[in-house]
Amino acid sequence: MADLQTLAQAIHGCTDCGLARSRTQAVPGEGAPQARLMFIGEGPGFNEDQQGRPFIGPAGQFLDELLGSIGLARPDVFITNMVKCRPPNNRDPFPGEMEACSKHLDAQIEAIKPKVIVPLGRHALAKWFPGESIGKVRAKPRRFGGLTLFPLYHPAAALHNGALRSTILEDFAKLGDLLRAPEPAEQPPRDEAAPGPAEPSPESHQISMF
Ligand code: SF4
Repeated sequence: MADLQTLAQAIHGCTDCGLARSRTQAVPGEGAPQARLMFIGEGPGFNEDQQGRPFIGPAGQFLDELLGSIGLARPDVFITNMVKCRPPNNRDPFPGEMEACSKHLDAQIEAIKPKVIVPLGRHALAKWFPGESIGKVRAKPRRFGGLTLFPLYHPAAALHNGALRSTILEDFAKLGDLLRAPEPAEQPPRDEAAPGPAEPSPESHQISMF
């Protein structure tokens, strides 16, 4: 398994989709190598493309405020995007671009092993729950495979619709509650000789707590 620095080098050199042609530089993401909390946005914007860092524009400033509201700061978490290179004119990333870039994100998740992944907005949500509405599933923890997902509105949504600002702050408070919830006891390995309960469905399901 590659470390984050090795992954970042691979991302900086990646030319696996058309976004490589228009970027100033790739933006791998940044934060704690063993972060408990990982945020995944859509893609770098103008400022991020210029400086090579994620979420440094107005949406990033709001994200900093949101982190502060639950007692966290950037060095406590890891922040990245679905695509690591800026889509021209800040258009939505194309499905093929997200598909091409997913290997980088998957490798980052494998390296960090976060306790909770926060998809920010519909594009990141669709990686795990395609076709679902962020407005309906936001701020509810869900399990997918071995991951815990806690989808939230993208902070930029509050820049376009000021009424969402208080909603996003309330959702973040729920995220803080989730992080403070006690870890579940480790399940002992099942005795193969003894019939146990049926395996959980591989399909995602909603959970109320850890
Ligand atoms: S967006 Fe991802 S797949 Fe496309 S060139 Fe950048 S790093 Fe590579």
